[in-house]
Amino acid sequence: MPDNNLREENERRSGSLVTATRRCHECSEEALGRCPECRRSLCQNHFPKQQHSPCAEKQMNMMHTQVCYVCGIQVYPDQWSISRTTHFIDPYKCRGCDRYICDELHTRRKVDDVTIIREGLRGHRYQYTNRYCDLCAPLYQIGGIKGLARLVVIAGTIIATVFFYLHR
Ligand SMILES: [Zn+2]
Ligand SMILES: [Zn+2]
Ligand SMILES: [Zn+2]
Ligand SMILES: [Zn+2]
Repeated sequence: MPDNNLREENERRSGSLVTATRRCHECSEEALGRCPECRRSLCQNHFPKQQHSPCAEKQMNMMHTQVCYVCGIQVYPDQWSISRTTHFIDPYKCRGCDRYICDELHTRRKVDDVTIIREGLRGHRYQYTNRYCDLCAPLYQIGGIKGLARLVVIAGTIIATVFFYLHR
């Protein structure tokens, strides 16, 4: 927002930007959380993806591709704040294979991951919902299918190295 930029510019000029409270990207409220997607500071009302650009536009464009990869039902990745310092993020995606999955039928395993990020004097708590699909749930400790692929690559490298030394 041009308004916001102007204010930041003024604050920067007067040298108070460091001490000034961070403002929401969409309005003049105090910013409480930071969107994990676009990295913008936002207030409680504008923190959800549908409430701020460019994430809202992106959500609109991706509407039809955000479907559970198993049953094709539409999913709605979301994020919200329940207090000034507690934020929830649910990408509706399998952590293991990076594909969208629905909550009711195809989320086999759900693990909450909490990250605390310090912003100024406050500690912000971001709680991520990590989901795993049927395929990845048994492999969740190594990071699902993606993790498995990584392990295969590492194992392949080790085998190749051993092979190389044995056959010099
Ligand atoms: Zn706002
Ligand atoms: Zn965003
Ligand atoms: Zn499904
Ligand atoms: Zn998966």
